[in-house]
Amino acid sequence: KGILGSRKNSSGLNMNIHSQGDQFFEKIRSYQNNQWQGGPIIGGELVTADHKVSVTSPQQTSQQMGTIGWADAKLAEKALTIANQAFPAWTRTKADDRAVKLEKLADLLEENMHELIALCTLEAGKSLQDGVDEVREAVDFCRYYAIKARELMSEGEKLPGPTGEKNELFVQGRGTFVCISPWNFPLAIFLGQVTAALATGNCVIAKPAEQTGLIAYRAVQLALEAGIPGDVLHFLPGNGAEIGAYLVSQENIGGVCFTGSTNTAQAINRALAARSGTIVPLIAETGGQNAMMIDSTALPEQVVTDVVHSAFASAGQRCSALRVLYVQDDIADRVLDLLKGSMAELTVGDPIDHKTDVGPVIDGIAKTNLEQHIQDIQQAGTIIGEAPMPEYTQGGTFVTPTAIEIDSISQLVRENFGPILHVIRFKNKEVDKVINDINDTGFGLTFGIHSRNETFAYDVARKINVGNVYINRNQIGAIVGVQPFGGQGLSGTGPKAGGPHYLYAFMTEKTFSDNI
Ligand code: GLU
Repeated sequence: KGILGSRKNSSGLNMNIHSQGDQFFEKIRSYQNNQWQGGPIIGGELVTADHKVSVTSPQQTSQQMGTIGWADAKLAEKALTIANQAFPAWTRTKADDRAVKLEKLADLLEENMHELIALCTLEAGKSLQDGVDEVREAVDFCRYYAIKARELMSEGEKLPGPTGEKNELFVQGRGTFVCISPWNFPLAIFLGQVTAALATGNCVIAKPAEQTGLIAYRAVQLALEAGIPGDVLHFLPGNGAEIGAYLVSQENIGGVCFTGSTNTAQAINRALAARSGTIVPLIAETGGQNAMMIDSTALPEQVVTDVVHSAFASAGQRCSALRVLYVQDDIADRVLDLLKGSMAELTVGDPIDHKTDVGPVIDGIAKTNLEQHIQDIQQAGTIIGEAPMPEYTQGGTFVTPTAIEIDSISQLVRENFGPILHVIRFKNKEVDKVINDINDTGFGLTFGIHSRNETFAYDVARKINVGNVYINRNQIGAIVGVQPFGGQGLSGTGPKAGGPHYLYAFMTEKTFSDNI
């Protein structure tokens, strides 16, 4: 068995091999002028919605790429009724039957990879590499949860008891799960939530982010094609304030799985608490004020690549992305100098061009907020480096990748989900203060440390309250089953997505004590 045991992660493709790359680009480009249509899917049928929204690309906002119908609370009510009726039969299906369907879905995702990657670049502004990784992660979630569901749900667990009594523990689904997903992983996290809930015998109402309904629509079509029954999985694109709010206020839901901002997670938590009826779980994965620490034993040339990747890949729009870099003052000048040089080399532009490092941010609102943040924080800091912005970027929602030196993490009052890196120098004697400052933010998602002193690295890593620690590497791009992903505190409830305990949160347990 290799490092992954008998399970294998999906391998994606190597764009640097010409035979793979050329064909790949050609296929992706063939979708460039496609017009996609989508809408709510209830009971396996596309429902004609009164409210239709036209979808434009963040990289060139004049480019329309399709339209999508939006659901309303009335359709949400209909979906919930059908899902709840379907639950008893679905939850009694064999774990293996559900797993086979998810494995079929993984195959279909791979077969339709080019269209899905094109959608990731056009609708979400993802770079090609991010698009490839997104499909791989979605495939991995399907296969991983299929295997885990078989492992955990095929048979009851025999327990000891008095002579003549047979004791067994079973797990089963909870009901209809409301899955509310973000635009930054419009396929992988969307399907990660949905497949975890389905694998464990729950029905699902999937509410995608407003910005990325078309990708999610294609994913649901493929799930239905893979054999997931139409009364089990329903799809409700639309306004979160209406549909999401309606669903989480309902008594007859089985649980909520949410990835997005901390504020929204807290609002969902309050809405769930205000209901009467069943007490249901909330699985929330939210943001982070993620830090990296570089001590004076680290090699500046090596760390800067990881810093740039962690902060600016995916235009900094990952929950895991690096926001605050702490550099020990002995090597700070050198690191900052290299950082400035590296940023000048970044290619910002068209995500469908394979030379692009940084694409657009998701929409105009995000761009305005991020640029406001850069303006405000400049009052308190000094710009270290910026990436050049070619003319192409004028047509889309691009934000200049920026690194800025500040004095203290307490100056970061606003969430800044984009390509902005804050840098703080620290002295050797201030290590404990840095640890406290990071923990005091209350967030706890990712943390990176670069040091050649193993004892120091582990000591700091143990004291920082986060879900994912990365030592001497970048701190993004968790892989299913390898780096189970998710945080603590303001960053989420756990359990970790793509980890061995995730499915338990979607299940309820039942003990049989049998004296027949
Ligand atoms: N799992 C992703 C990573 O490790 C981040 C997920 C997110 O942004 O929600 O980069």
